[in-house]
Amino acid sequence: MQVQADETEKDVGAQVAARLATAIHEHRLAPGMKLSEDEVGEIFGVSRTVVRAALQRLAHLRLVDLKRNRGAFVAQPTVKEAREVFEARALLEPRTARSAAERITPTDTRILQRHIDDEHAALHAGDTGRALNLSGQFHIEIARIADQATIADFIAQLVSRSSLIIALYWQRRAALCESQAHHALIKAISAGDGARAEELMQSHLLDLLTSLDLRAHSSAPQSLREALGP
Ligand SMILES: [Zn+2]
Repeated sequence: MQVQADETEKDVGAQVAARLATAIHEHRLAPGMKLSEDEVGEIFGVSRTVVRAALQRLAHLRLVDLKRNRGAFVAQPTVKEAREVFEARALLEPRTARSAAERITPTDTRILQRHIDDEHAALHAGDTGRALNLSGQFHIEIARIADQATIADFIAQLVSRSSLIIALYWQRRAALCESQAHHALIKAISAGDGARAEELMQSHLLDLLTSLDLRAHSSAPQSLREALGP
């Protein structure tokens, strides 16, 4: 990674964290995968101190689990956490979609449409991970349009964690936000139809939740140590 000389270690840590987060969102790094400090440092050409700061940051966002004496791992949300994340989204996002419909501008509509186009292009190219990431960004963009910064931060975190949940529990392709649902949302939001946007978001999130297999899922051990250890 090209690092400017005048950048502080903190900025570099943030950049490394952002790159790792994207890899997690795009399912290039799987839940449970070990993130060795040395290896991450080598890949990005940064010190262990910087890597540690990046991993701390991701742990704060609950994308990474830091385990005592064992290091950092891509987080593996439990079934309970998975439900909670989608319940929280169902509380926040329908109302946010309504607010977005009340504020949307033609520029915003074009941005949303571009998200869908990019998502389609990624799917056609067989890049499911990128498509998944873009479908999440679509939700974050709606929160931005609603101009609710605090709620938008929450939603961004929840969408981020949703990508781990989808990696673990997805049972059908529909867990990638169906673009049909997103098309309908754009239509309602850009028409300023808040009530319809709220209703569509509610049912879209319910669809997402039911497309995950959250029945007593046991996550397989990732290593011999995990399987046999205390
Ligand atoms: Zn969606």
